[in-house]
Amino acid sequence: MPHVFEAAPSGRAKCRGCNRTIAKGEIRFGERLANPYAEGEMSLWFHPLCAAYKRPEPLLEALAEAAPELALEREKLSAAAHAALAHRRLPRIDGAQRAPSGQAKCRHCRQPIERGAWRIRLVFYEEGRFSPGGFLHVSCRHEYFENQEAWEALLHFSPDLTEEDREELARAYRGE
Ligand SMILES: [Zn+2]
Ligand SMILES: [Zn+2]
Repeated sequence: MPHVFEAAPSGRAKCRGCNRTIAKGEIRFGERLANPYAEGEMSLWFHPLCAAYKRPEPLLEALAEAAPELALEREKLSAAAHAALAHRRLPRIDGAQRAPSGQAKCRHCRQPIERGAWRIRLVFYEEGRFSPGGFLHVSCRHEYFENQEAWEALLHFSPDLTEEDREELARAYRGE
């Protein structure tokens, strides 16, 4: 079965990209893949924009089909997916948060991330699953993503930040 865009028949499924519920009637993206645990296929459901950032290849495949449901969103989705394809590590971005303790080490420089400092959360995708992939200093992203822009995805997966948080994060991102 090909990947699909469709209106969610219920409000029960959660998006694999952001873990939030996909509202009934909202357009969702289904990535079809062989079920690694049983015979047949399974679908991973996403908000389309979440898939654009975290699963750009299957999303672009599906966009290339007509997908008339998407009308106005096509360009936005395509731009987000192409941005995510600029570096193989960009789809790992899972949002930003302040480090709740000084325990975690940065995946890039291996130094501890200071308590209260902004960090980038990473996830790894493998065979239909996203698993926690550790954290990055905001400043280490330059090298980790080889200077590719990460801001839009970072904000997209940090929907709970307050206005003030976003400004702080923006300053950290700019290196201020
Ligand atoms: Zn989502
Ligand atoms: Zn670091």
